[in-house]
Amino acid sequence: MTAKTLCIIIPVYNEAEGLPDLLARLNAIAGRISAEFALEVGYIFIDDGSSDDSFALLKAHDFGPRPVRLLQFSRNFGKEAALSAGIDAAEYADAAVLMDADLQHPPEMIVDFVRIWLTEGADSVYAYKASRRTSEGLLKAAFARMFFWAINRDLRYEIPPGAGDFRLINHRFMTALRSLPESDRFMKGLYGWVGFRQRGLPLDPPPRTRGKSSFNPLRLVSMTLDAFTSFTTTPLRLMALAGIAIAMVSMVYGIYVVLQHFFFPSVPTGIASILALIAFFGGIQMIFLGLLGEYVGKSVLEAKKRPPYILAEDISRKGEPVADRR
Ligand code: UDP
Ligand code: MG
Repeated sequence: MTAKTLCIIIPVYNEAEGLPDLLARLNAIAGRISAEFALEVGYIFIDDGSSDDSFALLKAHDFGPRPVRLLQFSRNFGKEAALSAGIDAAEYADAAVLMDADLQHPPEMIVDFVRIWLTEGADSVYAYKASRRTSEGLLKAAFARMFFWAINRDLRYEIPPGAGDFRLINHRFMTALRSLPESDRFMKGLYGWVGFRQRGLPLDPPPRTRGKSSFNPLRLVSMTLDAFTSFTTTPLRLMALAGIAIAMVSMVYGIYVVLQHFFFPSVPTGIASILALIAFFGGIQMIFLGLLGEYVGKSVLEAKKRPPYILAEDISRKGEPVADRR
């Protein structure tokens, strides 16, 4: 029987500063895993259009006997696209581990992932943040909680709060992910969507030691909107409900004004309240139209059927030959 293969997939965006550390720790862990579980461990790195010398560093690195695939995007396509590229390239593997390059996902945890995958037959083993507070601001934590509460209202499957991209997925889980045609890929949602048997392990993510996070508050808000609009149509339904509620309130108010006109003709009706109402409803309509636009825009983008990423370089070392995606 040939040994099972495990492939570690790492998206890299301007991480040159931390790469040497990461590679050293990965090397130790990969050795431990191959020895303990008799697995062949390989890597796939995806350079997501870095402007520093991340890719040069990877190309120059000596990975020893491990199969390595180095992909470089033609520009920055985003982490979700990078993960998708990794999963596409990991077709040969029995399982893959997705992890960040910034050591916020401690490589040592992969050992636990692999153990649970092999002994309990889980299709995916993921890490979830046990407490957000230690690593993030209170506001961000509250925001995240609200987000997961709202997004899980509507679904037949669960997107576990605090679960990120740090996870092991087995062959059939990867096949399922690969079969999803959308080019806009909110991975945290897709993991939940595909189903299968999943196990969560608590993790307290250490703070970033080198480099800086590329997700600022604005980007988080835009990602939230993206997540909502690609996973639920609840906001559209809420819009309709709000419309009904507002219409009913206006009707009652209209009756009140008419009655007032007949019974208390001396009371002057104010222009200020009219202006306020016009402004208020104008604002509400803009918000709703904008939201509707988000959904329409998303359909337009998906209708173009563009690939989620374009490769500039594809280097394979000692790995099994993998058919190109396109
Ligand atoms: N990343 C990427 N493309 C991007 C932004 C980030 O591939 O456009 C990678 C980055 O190199 C890292 C991982 O995604 O390996 C997580 O990024 P980061 O640490 O900035 O995110 P955070 O930990 O703050 O969520
Ligand atoms: Mg990080």
